[in-house]
Amino acid sequence: MLDVLIIGAGPIGLACGIEATKHKLNYLILEKGVLVNSLYHYPDNMTFFSTSEKLEIGGVPFVSNNPKPRKHEALEYYRRVAEKFQLNINFYESVKGIAKGGDHFVVNTSKGIYKTKSLVIATGFYDLPNKLNIPGEELSKVKHYYTDPHPYYRQKVVVIGAQNSAVDAALECWRKGAEVTMIVRGPEIANRVKYWVRPDIENRIEEGSIKAHFNANVTKVEEHSLTFMKDNKEHTIPNDFVLALTGYQPGYDLLKMAGVNISNEKTMRPSYNEANMESNIRQLYLAGVVVGGMETAKWFIENSRIHADLIMNDIMQKIKGESQS
Ligand code: FAD
Repeated sequence: MLDVLIIGAGPIGLACGIEATKHKLNYLILEKGVLVNSLYHYPDNMTFFSTSEKLEIGGVPFVSNNPKPRKHEALEYYRRVAEKFQLNINFYESVKGIAKGGDHFVVNTSKGIYKTKSLVIATGFYDLPNKLNIPGEELSKVKHYYTDPHPYYRQKVVVIGAQNSAVDAALECWRKGAEVTMIVRGPEIANRVKYWVRPDIENRIEEGSIKAHFNANVTKVEEHSLTFMKDNKEHTIPNDFVLALTGYQPGYDLLKMAGVNISNEKTMRPSYNEANMESNIRQLYLAGVVVGGMETAKWFIENSRIHADLIMNDIMQKIKGESQS
C-alpha cells in the first residue's frame, strides 16, 4: 500500500513528489504521457510569460539564457529536477478509475491497480480544448492545438481567439508565410497578452499584414471555406486551416469519479480546503491549476507550487495523529 499516489507529472505533480521524497513517504507519480506532458505539447517556439525563477520547484535554480525561458529550457530544467530527486514516476500510464475502499483508495490505470492511503489529483487543464460546437468542427483542418508554423506555409489560416496562444500562433504563422485572419469574439486583443507581444500583434493588424475581425463569431467551417457573423451579417471567406485556440478546461471525469464536489456552478471550481488542499473527500487532495476549474488564468506554477508543501504537511500530520492514537 502506498502512502500517497500523485496523478500527473506536471510541474506541480513533480513538486508534490519532491515533498513526498523529503518526508520519506512511500509515493508514486502516475503520468499518462511524458514528463511535464502539457508543457511538452506547447508550441515549439513558445516563450513563457513567467520568469524562470517563478517556474522553479524543489528549490532547484532554473537558469535561463533569456529574460523569459523558452519551452526547451523548461523541459531540460524539469528533467534535471526529476533526476536530482530521483522521482518515482510511471510514464504512459493513464488513471482510468478511482474508488474508495474503506480507509484507502483503489486506483485503476491503463496498466494496473494501486492501493494508496492518500491521493493527489494534479491533472492540470490542458487535455480538453474548449469546443466551438459549430458545424464542421470535426474536419481535420480544424486544430485545437498549435505546435509549429511549417504546415501553414502559403495556406489561408483562420486563428480563432485573442489570448496568448492565439496571438503567438497568428504572428508566427504570418512570419512563416501563411495568410492569417484572426476572428475574435470580443472587441480587442485580450488584456492578458504578454506585454512585449501586444504591440507586435496590434501593429501587424493595423498595417493589414494580419487581417482581424472583432466582435465576430465563427458559425460554420467547410472543406474550403469558413463562415462568420459580424455586424449581423454573414461573411464567408476561403480557408485551408482553422486554429481554434479558445482555451482549455480540466477533465472533470476523475474528479467526479472520486466524488469531489464542484463548489461553484459558474467557475466549476472543485471543492477543497485552502489550508491543506484536501477536497471534500478525506485524504484526497487537489494540486496545481486543476483547482481553478474553468478559471484557467487564476493559477500558475508560481502560485500553485505551494500546494505541494500544504498537502505533504497535512499527510504527515495525519500519519503522526494515527501513530499517537
Ligand atoms: P499540468 O502541467 O497540466 O500537468 C498535469 C499533468 O497531468 C499532465 O502531464 C497530464 O498529462 C497529466 N494527466 C492528466 N490526466 C491524467 C490521467 N488521467 N492519468 C495520468 N496523468 C494525467 N503557467 C506559468 O506559470 N507560467 C507560464 O508562463 C505559463 N505559460 C503557459 C502557456 C500555455 C500555452 C499554456 C496552455 C499554459 C501556460 N501556463 C503557464 C499554465 C501552465 O500550464 C500551468 O501553470 C502548469 O502546467 C500547471 O502545472 P500542473 O502540474 O498543475 O498541470
